[in-house]
Amino acid sequence: MSFASEVKNELIKVSREGYKTGHMRECCLHAEMYGLFLFCRSFNQSEISIKTENENIAKLFSDFVKSITGTPANIEKSSAGKYKASVKSLQDRKKILSKFGHTGNEITKRLNRANLDDDCCMSALLRGAFMSCGTLTDPNKDYHLEFVISHKVLSDDLMKLISEVELSPKVVPRKGSYVIYFKDSESVEDILTLMGATESSLEIMGMKMYKDMRNRVNRRMNFENANSGRAFDAAYKQIEAIRFIESVRGLGYLPEELREVAKLRMENEDYTLKDIADNLRDPISKSGVNHRLQKILSIAESLQPLEKEEEE
Ligand SMILES: [Zn+2]
Repeated sequence: MSFASEVKNELIKVSREGYKTGHMRECCLHAEMYGLFLFCRSFNQSEISIKTENENIAKLFSDFVKSITGTPANIEKSSAGKYKASVKSLQDRKKILSKFGHTGNEITKRLNRANLDDDCCMSALLRGAFMSCGTLTDPNKDYHLEFVISHKVLSDDLMKLISEVELSPKVVPRKGSYVIYFKDSESVEDILTLMGATESSLEIMGMKMYKDMRNRVNRRMNFENANSGRAFDAAYKQIEAIRFIESVRGLGYLPEELREVAKLRMENEDYTLKDIADNLRDPISKSGVNHRLQKILSIAESLQPLEKEEEE
């Protein structure tokens, strides 16, 4: 599955669960629906439809339609594997348009602010809009997230809205559409978090940390050393384990001798075992350090199921 689909599925989950558990306020659900409808392929009297590669989005669209009109949308799958969900009856299309304060006869399609009740609705609207017209690149290759909008004025409206949440995307015309995009990792993380895709956002941070660290370590380590890759992976795994222990129990959970090794490991990701050994208050052997790190790893492992139980 592409990273973009992963993100969209996470957003759908946020939406579905928020609704089911009552975590999502009525005003936000309204705003999310509006975002999904307004930024989809067509939103006017003669057609309300969405085209997507993601079947779950077509289904969400259909459920939204049903919640307003009582009848689900018509979903078709093209030979290219794309889904098109559309509202068949004119009566139903009028109902949907009027729910969001549109007639469907407007000369220019604009964002109707009356659908944003409160500050909380902003992220819901962006989530809906992104599911309709957004995509992003695999963060292993590049940091790039965009909204593609076919109307200039509507893209201006969205641009204005996004700048109100202190983000500053850029806009560029492309093939008759307007592309609002973010190009740096931090903004991509921020907007994903804002839309509710926190897991995806954390995944990007993790990838970035891994990449940064690998670059730093590579610079320092000898490239001809066949072990450097393995040593790096081991160090990364150890640091993850230490961070994990820190987050669930705090480093105070570790006995003194392990804590000292843990701190040196975490603060000096490019240290070799020997570097760690030499920097201990009471220096020990390389294998002694390795032994302590193994202990830390098994402590982290022993904490794993516990954390899951607590989550439930
Ligand atoms: Zn709200």
